[in-house]
Amino acid sequence: MAEKHLNFIGGEWVEPATGEYFENRNPADQTDLIGLWPRSGKEDVERAVQSAKRGFEEWRRRPAPERGEIMRRVGDLMTARKDELSRVMTREMGKVLKETGGDVQEGIDTAYFAATEGRRLYGKTVPSELRDKWAMTYRRPIGVCGLITPFNFPLAIPTWKGFPALLSGNSIILKPAEDTPHTATLLVEILLEAGIPAEVVQLVHGLGAEVGSAIVEHPDVPVISFTGSTATGSIIGETCGRMHKRLSLEMGGKNAQIVMADADMDLAIDGVLWGAFGTTGQRCTATSRLLLQDEIHDEFLEKLVERARALRLGNGLEDGVDVGPLIHQRALDKNTAYVEIAKQEGARVLTGGKRATGGKLDNGYFFEPTILADVKPGSRLALEEVFGPVLSVIRFKDLDEAFRINNEVQYGLSSSLYTRDTRNAFRAMTELDTGITYINAPTIGAEAHLPFGGVKMTGNGHREGGWEVYEFYTETKVVYVDYSGRLQRAQIDNYDASPY
Ligand code: ADP
Repeated sequence: MAEKHLNFIGGEWVEPATGEYFENRNPADQTDLIGLWPRSGKEDVERAVQSAKRGFEEWRRRPAPERGEIMRRVGDLMTARKDELSRVMTREMGKVLKETGGDVQEGIDTAYFAATEGRRLYGKTVPSELRDKWAMTYRRPIGVCGLITPFNFPLAIPTWKGFPALLSGNSIILKPAEDTPHTATLLVEILLEAGIPAEVVQLVHGLGAEVGSAIVEHPDVPVISFTGSTATGSIIGETCGRMHKRLSLEMGGKNAQIVMADADMDLAIDGVLWGAFGTTGQRCTATSRLLLQDEIHDEFLEKLVERARALRLGNGLEDGVDVGPLIHQRALDKNTAYVEIAKQEGARVLTGGKRATGGKLDNGYFFEPTILADVKPGSRLALEEVFGPVLSVIRFKDLDEAFRINNEVQYGLSSSLYTRDTRNAFRAMTELDTGITYINAPTIGAEAHLPFGGVKMTGNGHREGGWEVYEFYTETKVVYVDYSGRLQRAQIDNYDASPY
């Protein structure tokens, strides 16, 4: 019988009020049942919110440097358990160990950044327009934050949201993806071991439409941070708009790597292989379009296809594996369907295009790394997010055309330009309409201390990571202190005659 895992609500590990559980299986091997996790309901969310409100009252009064000390211990504990966390993550969502190690490292870096932010959280002191009066700002926490996270970065994304939220003095309710409950469970264990007061953190497992929506709709959760599909983000956005909640959305992408004829071709090939097939293409920053300049188009593709065919698929826990499985059957169906659409649209399948089978692969959701040539700008494969190892190749004549093709999608997360010409690089930095642009590097690879996020339908104007995320999790309070001992009227008295 598989082990039953618990929610963390009200300061203790508890069973769900529903009494129901769901299975967590290894996507590389469906015969491997990892365990059972709570399929929680509204009642569990209600208890979590009430507890988090109590936690907030205690936590918000702690000095921020003290909260930072706890975040430093969180970083230390994650460092000590890096190997274990990586293995748990690979087993439940499939990406290879070196990538899950990177996922943990991102969490560690985020923890240490938060630790030092405890000694900053800067406000401003500015001159008042009146005499004997001070004007200043400081950042205060908001309350209970609902964090809804996806499967592809099961540790990093909860840390991107949770650590700045906590450091700022908020309490959190985490609803991890139902595909990756184990990693989230270990993260909460670590937070508690590091010294976060029990009611400051709540972990409620379950399905998006049940637990996720109950958190979003709860009137006592004023902040929601969501990473996932644009479709789900739009639903959440409607609710939050109606309820006047603060909302951060991080959603889809259709990111392009543009390669100019003057680029270092081998470097660009390494980049696109990593960008398109790393994490089995299941990153919001994954390279899903490759824009090649006419002169190099054929030679580049010939070399790229050879390299893509050499990628080894398998269980990410095993040595020598380059690409793990997709997350579930639905993802497999979606990738398969998009290849069919591509064919109907006149694209050519240069390699891949179907489920990978044979031997142990039969037990998992493996899909062959796929390269589609002759994808036309404006076609579905050029515009829609596939979220898998499917790369659409588009030709272009000059840089202006490449910019146009890049910018005609509804998303705007990441972009990349390979060139040896500095002028092209600087033009790309300004013309590519995305939140992130890489020069001579793939579309993936965010660093924890820089802001992360996209424009257009990818987001809603907020950023995660770096210093900017702290603005999302805090309110600015303005304080005026008048020590003149008389009524001074702003906007009026500053032009009056001086009493001195
Ligand atoms: P993905 O395609 O990455 O699985 P989803 O948007 O479906 O993206 O899921 C991301 C997260 O959002 C998951 O934790 C999921 O459970 C949650 N979720 C899904 N639907 C809803 C919803 N209607 N309300 C709130 N959360 C949801």
